[in-house]
Amino acid sequence: MPAPGELTFVAPRGAVKPPRHLADLTPAERRDAVAELGEKPFRARQLSRHYFTRLTDDPADWTDVPAAARERLAGALLPRLMTVVRHLSCDDGATRKTLWRLGDGTLVESVLMRYPDRVTMCVSSQAGCGMNCPFCATGQAGLDRNLSTAEIVHQIVDGMRALRDGEVPGGASPEGGPARLSNIVFMGMGEPLANYRRVTGAIRRLTDGDPDGAGLSQRGITVSTVGLVPAMLRFADEGFTCRLAVSLHAPDDELRDTLVPVNTRWKVREVLDAAWAYAEKSGRRISIEYALIRDINDQAWRADLLGRLLKGRGAHVNLIPLNPTPGSRWTASRPEDERAFVAGLQAHGVPVTVRDTRGQEIDGACGQLAAAERV
Ligand code: SF4
Repeated sequence: MPAPGELTFVAPRGAVKPPRHLADLTPAERRDAVAELGEKPFRARQLSRHYFTRLTDDPADWTDVPAAARERLAGALLPRLMTVVRHLSCDDGATRKTLWRLGDGTLVESVLMRYPDRVTMCVSSQAGCGMNCPFCATGQAGLDRNLSTAEIVHQIVDGMRALRDGEVPGGASPEGGPARLSNIVFMGMGEPLANYRRVTGAIRRLTDGDPDGAGLSQRGITVSTVGLVPAMLRFADEGFTCRLAVSLHAPDDELRDTLVPVNTRWKVREVLDAAWAYAEKSGRRISIEYALIRDINDQAWRADLLGRLLKGRGAHVNLIPLNPTPGSRWTASRPEDERAFVAGLQAHGVPVTVRDTRGQEIDGACGQLAAAERV
């Protein structure tokens, strides 16, 4: 029986366990692992600093570790977890999507988006997704497996390294140059709260300070969920200050039951109540994600209903023009319907943004790149 937050709705296809990696372990577990290899416990801090702060997992760079011990420590604690299949860039290079092949051949993806004032990275928490939303390419392909904590963290460490080394142009100056990662969104492949233990482990690794972790701010991290209520309530008790984004996509149960099938288990009202519980404990506003789909969920009366549900709650709505997937009957709303939807929410005083759809020309909708690679 899975614990709350470890819910899987479709059996994972892949059962291969990724190798243990430093980033899977707490600082205490790292010290134990190093001691088991016959090394002094302080080597764990050295390795952690190389990986999380200096962003190198190449033993040749570890000049503070005796040469004889480097390969052994690297083999045991920093095995290669994934390789780049390809990078795809658009927006003059300021958006870079990476397709990864994991050790068992599974494909996942991450996206770096550099803006004048910030850099956001979108990461995958699962290979595929078991939530089965009918408008989503990833959902149609099903769930391969959960990513390990280290497989999640490594997407970000690699992105930090690419930014530091000036590989992603853009930003305030035309040349770009080095940059720092400011935001992480768990909005790539997968439902993060269905891989609860590993995702929360990744948040700790990313936000622990030097040398234990990457020293990023929890306030810059957004975890999105379709509404796994028990996991949301558990998440509220973690003491995190991350932002929680709820992929609502419909304000009424009748439609949401079809657009987000997990709604047959937890209804709109329960999902929103769990979101408000998180907002209260974390002190963060909730984001409501709503993919606008032509003639499906973009009617004025639905904007009004959504506005009434969110009024006075301090939540912010992100409207996402649907990026149609090949062969899908779902498509983006007409501009006039989008404008009317925005106005309907604003009439209730609900803040709303129409999301920038960066990366569309490189198959930016979640899962599309990996789905294209599979065929
Ligand atoms: S929309 Fe999100 S939750 Fe739904 S199937 Fe796609 S990746 Fe999974």
